[in-house]
Amino acid sequence: MKLEIDSIRLTSELAKLATFSDAPAPAVTRVVFSEQDRHARAYCLGLYEEAGLQVREDAVGNVFARWVGAEPDLPAIGTGSHIDAIPHSGQYDGTVGVLGGLEAIRALQRSGMRPRRSIELMMFSAEEPTRFGIGCFGSRMLAGVLDGTTLRDKDGKSLEEWRTMAGFIGEFSTVALPVGYYAGFVELHIEQGPHLEKDGIPIGVVTAIAAPSSLRIFVEGEGGHAGAVLMPGRRDAFCAAAEIVLAVETAARSTGAIDTVGTVGVCDVFPGAVNGVPSRVRLEVDVRDIDAGRRDGVLSQIDKACQEVAVKRSVTVRTEVVNADLPTVCDARLVEIVTKAAEAQGLACQKMVSRAYHDTLFMSRITPATMIFIPCRAGVSHRPDEYATPEAIAAGTRVLAGSLAALAM
Ligand SMILES: [Zn+2]
Repeated sequence: MKLEIDSIRLTSELAKLATFSDAPAPAVTRVVFSEQDRHARAYCLGLYEEAGLQVREDAVGNVFARWVGAEPDLPAIGTGSHIDAIPHSGQYDGTVGVLGGLEAIRALQRSGMRPRRSIELMMFSAEEPTRFGIGCFGSRMLAGVLDGTTLRDKDGKSLEEWRTMAGFIGEFSTVALPVGYYAGFVELHIEQGPHLEKDGIPIGVVTAIAAPSSLRIFVEGEGGHAGAVLMPGRRDAFCAAAEIVLAVETAARSTGAIDTVGTVGVCDVFPGAVNGVPSRVRLEVDVRDIDAGRRDGVLSQIDKACQEVAVKRSVTVRTEVVNADLPTVCDARLVEIVTKAAEAQGLACQKMVSRAYHDTLFMSRITPATMIFIPCRAGVSHRPDEYATPEAIAAGTRVLAGSLAALAM
C-alpha cells in the first residue's frame, strides 16, 4: 500500500491549532473548556467534516470522528489523543496524535483503501490535570473508572457546570464505552523524553506505561503578624510544608530505582503576604513508577513523613489521594503490528516504556492498546520550545496509518 503523508498540510494545521492559545506564541496555553479550547475544537471539527468523518461528542466533550468501514457493526479501531495544553507549554504534545491521526486517515482514504472495520479518531477531553486536578478525566470516564460527578476545579466549580457552559449535554453515565466498542487502540505521541533522538531511532513502540499517582496535601498551622508572632510561638504552615517537600524527594530517591520519580509541582501559600505568617499551604504531589508496589511504598513513606511533621510542628496535615493508578502492559499483538508497519516503511523501531502517562493507559483497560512515539528535540516537552520535525511527524503518521490499515482489515 502506498501511503503519502501530506506533511506540508499537517505542519500548517498543527501551527494553526497552536494559535488557539491564551499565551502568546510560541507558548501554548489551552485549558479544557476555556474559550480557546472551544475555538480549537471547532477548528478540528471543521477538518473532520472536510475528511467526511462522522462526528459525535459525548456528555463531557470527548469527540469521536469516525471513518465508517465496510462492516460498520464490527468493533472499530481507535486512534487519537488530546488537544488541551498546560499553561505555557508547546504545540506538539497531544496535537500530533489528533491531527496526525486525521492525516493518517486521509492518507488511507487517498490510497483507495476501504477499511473493513470503522476507524475512529478520538479527541479526549483534557489529558492534562490543569482544570480538575486529575489527568485524563475524559478517557477515565470512557473506560468506566471515573464517574465525573465529584470533579471540581480549585474554585469549587464542577465538571457538570464547566461542560454545560462549553455546550456539552447528557448524562455522565452515558460516557463509558460499551464492552467491545473498540477492537484496538493506537495513540501517536511525541516521546517527551530524549531517548529516540539520542539513539537516532525514528519510531518507538510502547510496551508499558508507568503507574502515575498524585496527592494533595493540606497543611494547616496558625497565621499572624510576621513581626508580632515570635519564633517560639510559631506554627508556620509553610515551614512544615517545606519539610514535606523534601520528604517527597527523599522517599522517591530511597527506592534506588531509576524508574521512581517524585515531584511537588504546586505549592499554594495562604495568605501569601510578606508580613503574614503562613497559616495554610496546599501541595500537589506526583509520584510514578513502572512498579505499582514500589510506587505505593513511596506513597506510604510520604504519608508517614506528613504525620511526623504534623507532630513535630504542631500543625495538622491532611493527605488526599487524587489518583493512584495501575501501570499497564501494552498488547503484544498490537506492538507487533506497529513494529511490522514501521518495518514496511523502512523505519527503525525501538520498544520502550512510557514514563509519562497518556489516555492510552485508560483505553488499555477496555481494549488492546499501544502507542507510537516519535522523537522530539532534546526530549523537551511542556515548554514553549517543544519541537518535533515535520519529517519525524510524517514518519509517525505513516506508521500509524499502516498500523490502522492492518488492524482495520
Ligand atoms: Zn500528551
